[in-house]
This record gives sequence, C-alpha cells and structure tokens, in this order.
Amino acid sequence: MIAENIARIQQELGRNVRLVVVSKFRTTAEIMEAYNCGQRAFAENKVQLLVDRRQTLPQDIEWHLIGHLQSNKVKYIAPFVNCIQSVDSLKLLGIINAAALRHGRVIDCLLQIHIADEEHKFGLSPDECRALLKEAAQSDLSGVRIRGLMGMATNTEDQDSLRREFSGLAALYSELKDAWHMDTLSMGMSGDYKIAVECGSNMVRIGSLVFA
Ligand SMILES: *Cc1c(COP(=O)(O)O)cnc(C)c1O
Repeated sequence: MIAENIARIQQELGRNVRLVVVSKFRTTAEIMEAYNCGQRAFAENKVQLLVDRRQTLPQDIEWHLIGHLQSNKVKYIAPFVNCIQSVDSLKLLGIINAAALRHGRVIDCLLQIHIADEEHKFGLSPDECRALLKEAAQSDLSGVRIRGLMGMATNTEDQDSLRREFSGLAALYSELKDAWHMDTLSMGMSGDYKIAVECGSNMVRIGSLVFA
C-alpha cells in the first residue's frame, strides 16, 4: 500500500514538487517500506524522534525537522539534519549556524511563516520575516542557508480559506525569492497539498496519506 500511495502522490506532484514524507507516529518497518520505494527525504516534528530515527535507519536518508525547535536542542540534530523547516527567529538561526560550523556543515533552513487562523501555530509574520532576512544578511551566517519559506494552513475543509492562506505565502515567497536566492516553498500536507501545489508550492510534507 505504501508503495502505491507514494507512486500515486508522486505522479500527481509531477517533477517540480518535492515530496517529503512525514514519518511521525510510524514504525521503522513502515518507514523502510517507503525507503525501499526510493523515498529519501523524511521529516519529524520532534528533536528526540529525529535523533532516534537517525540512529536506527539508513544513513543516506535526508532528514527534515518540521516542528518547533528550542535553542537548547539544536546541538542534538546539528551533526546530521539536512533541513530545519521551522526557523522562526534570528536567535535560533544564529544558534543553528554556530552548531553547524562546529560540525563543519551547512544546514538548510526554511523560515516558518504564520499563515493560519489558529493562534497556536508558530511562525513569523511577513514583516518579521522581511526584518529577519535583512538582519541575517548583516551577520556572518555561513553555516546556514536560508532556502525558502514554510507554512501550515488552518486545519479546515474550507477551500477558499486554504487558497487564501497558501496564496498569501506564495506571494511573500515570490517577493523574496530572487533577492534572497531562495528555491523552496514548503506548503501542503495530506489534506491540502493539491491546493498548495496549485498555489505554487514546490515541497509538500505528507504523512497520513502515504501510510494510509
Ligand atoms: C504532521 C505534519 C505534517 C503531515 O501531516 P499529514 O496530515 O499527516 O500529512 C506536515 N507538516 C507538519 C508541520 C506536521 O507537523
């Protein structure tokens, strides 16, 4: 089933949208089934889970962190994480940078933008994002590369509001991408990825639909 699900989703996404499989709540066997179909990019939302996965799964997996990251936990993932999609402050970016340099690495980062109606979802406002980029440009941050933006829409079936939230994020991405050399717009999950892709997403983070 996992193989069929991945094949179907890949076909819908086409070549220009990257699939990152969200493996939270899944067993090692389930993740290996996805791996054996050729899937290499996986994401977890918790630092401890990411560390455990790294230890038990093949070393050529590209790991993304998609959940809120506390500064004091950066050190645990800095040796191996490929992309931190949940960067929401300059301070955190600085800490990731220092940890990356200590390991002689460059860690890809996405700035998480708050697009949902919901209070509890993390992220920067568009203005905070613009300000962060300007400040980051004045610091020496050679251990991180800001590849783009990430956002989570409101958990709703309302297609119009999903479209409004994704289009808003896509507009911010278009505004910033050339000046800041960005290439990644991460938006869309199992329930809303088709709309996200229509709105310009080029990276989707899908869990439930892959493992259904
Ligand atoms: C869990 C999660 C996903 C995947 O959600 P599904 O509905 O299972 O596809 C995507 N992004 C983030 C940030 C998540 O926490």
